[in-house]
Amino acid sequence: MIAIMCAMREELEPILKEIEVKEVIEYARNKYYLAKFNNLDLVLAYSKIGKVNAATTASVLIEKFGAKKILFSGVAGAIDADLKIGDLIIATKTTQHDVDLTVFGYEPGFIPESKVFFECDENLNQIAKKVSKKLNIKLKEGIIASGDQFIHSKEKKEWIAKTFNASAIEMEGGAVGCVTWTLGVPFFMLRSISDTAQEGAGVDFDEFLEESSRVSAKFLIAMLDEMVGG
Ligand code: SAH
Repeated sequence: MIAIMCAMREELEPILKEIEVKEVIEYARNKYYLAKFNNLDLVLAYSKIGKVNAATTASVLIEKFGAKKILFSGVAGAIDADLKIGDLIIATKTTQHDVDLTVFGYEPGFIPESKVFFECDENLNQIAKKVSKKLNIKLKEGIIASGDQFIHSKEKKEWIAKTFNASAIEMEGGAVGCVTWTLGVPFFMLRSISDTAQEGAGVDFDEFLEESSRVSAKFLIAMLDEMVGG
């Protein structure tokens, strides 16, 4: 069973259009879509926004639905200047930029007995790179930072860039990274840029959410094609 996860309805809808949904299960105040893509068994869901919702959904996908991998598709704010709206990025690792126990001498993002960065799956990232070459689509790789805040300030964005060496910002990846690391499940994070996480980001987000969600969804479907048999 492969899980496909998003945060928002707008991110999941373009994926649902491309697959054959067999059953919809309501569980834990959410809908889980069981589907087939060629010979792949899929379970799909959008978690709702933020780290707690993302952690809950990731846990349910693994523990209740038996997901052996989680592939995330969605939108993010750009940190790196070479990331433009609609561009794609995959995470090498994810982190939680809003974790702050620094007063106790820990580095930003660190929780005792846990860690700052959660690595994404190298095999899945290789499949993404293969697809990007095949289809001649630009695909960046970098650290993605998450927190329970929509970032729309140059100052905050620069702090996250400097502190975590992050290339993009969103609100779920660090949580899914932590859950999948804890439960030992490979995790892949794909995002298309919806805004530049600085002043005016809210307006850009509203304008580009649907289009950037489609870009990410389309690439994810191409990856499933590659996983089915190239
Ligand atoms: N306008 C929406 C809220 C969007 S929150 C509403 O009214 O419901 C932003 C979502 O997109 C989150 O799921 C987050 O993961 C991602 N995202 C995109 N740009 C972001 C940014 N600049 N900062 C934080 N998250 C961002």
